[in-house]
Amino acid sequence: MAPRKVLVCGAGGFIGAHLVRHLKRNGSWVRGVDLKRPEFSVTAADDFRIADLSRQDECAGVFDRHFDCVFQLAADMGGAGYIFTGDNDANVMHSSASINLNVLESATRHGIDRIFYSSSACVYPEHNQLDPENTVTSEDSVYPAAPDSEYGWEKLFGERLYLAFNRNAGMNNRIARYHNIFGPEGTWKGGREKAPAALCRKIAEAPDGGTIEIWGDGEQTRSFLYIDECIEGTLRLADSDFEGPVNIGSEEMVTINQLARLIMEIAGKKLAIRHVPGPLGVRGRNSDNRLIRERLGWAPDDHLAKGIEATYRWIYDQAKGKS
Ligand code: NAD
Repeated sequence: MAPRKVLVCGAGGFIGAHLVRHLKRNGSWVRGVDLKRPEFSVTAADDFRIADLSRQDECAGVFDRHFDCVFQLAADMGGAGYIFTGDNDANVMHSSASINLNVLESATRHGIDRIFYSSSACVYPEHNQLDPENTVTSEDSVYPAAPDSEYGWEKLFGERLYLAFNRNAGMNNRIARYHNIFGPEGTWKGGREKAPAALCRKIAEAPDGGTIEIWGDGEQTRSFLYIDECIEGTLRLADSDFEGPVNIGSEEMVTINQLARLIMEIAGKKLAIRHVPGPLGVRGRNSDNRLIRERLGWAPDDHLAKGIEATYRWIYDQAKGKS
């Protein structure tokens, strides 16, 4: 992406903090905004604002100038333990919808015409993801809609909102559906962490020969995309003439048991797995990358093991208090 003046909403989060670093490397001027600063590193942003974007006045205060592009990553989210229990549905929906409404209103007021919006694979219908070996996530399979969580429904509303502004307000918004992004500096404990980070932590903390717990039977399938490829796809889409929505994910599908064994191999540990009840999400999910290949001439293709290796080392150091 050519250097420019950019706003990153959610710059204190996992993907946002990495994105800011990449944007700075290519010479952009970056303002970051979030409820909090990045947890695991110092922000690379030129200017970092603490603000609650779900509040109209605070959001308007952040848009005090023109930006060439806004990356809207701010959302109330978390791992399965946060979004699939049902306990946080009202907060998830209300705060994320308010953020998107406020961001669009502030952006149009300043003549900003390009917002990159991070939607999610959670928009896809549950009934297409019951067979772990044969999941359907082609972009057009999203309707008739039946996401399995309110988080997914809110993301679908967000997509429609940004597309409506494209049609009615002359905007050029871009929409990605991220599939399970992981990597160093992601949440790795506390209940909001995703499967790769949770498993890396459990394996890093377990004594050799010990036991780790996995939610469900571990035969549910997923694909996981390393943060560097997520950022590359994000920048390519933001710069392209394709509005999306388009999947940004990996096509290397594994079961959670296979993922656990891969991490054990990288860690050099032999551990037993105990399967316990827990919130699971859909039975199977993989990214379908036909559309992104066709429209951007690019798709992620790195092997899972490469990203897991870097992530395990980082979480191992965190768990041992080395960083
Ligand atoms: P994250 O939770 O690390 O980052 C989101 C950030 O938004 C957090 O730092 C949070 O403080 C901030 N935020 C929340 N409410 C806010 C508010 N009211 N005002 C200002 N900031 C607020 O999550 P992430 O993994 O970096 O994800 C970024 C985006 O990508 C999210 O929109 C998420 O839904 C989407 N996404 C992520 C994944 C993934 O696997 N990480 C998958 C699909 C979609």
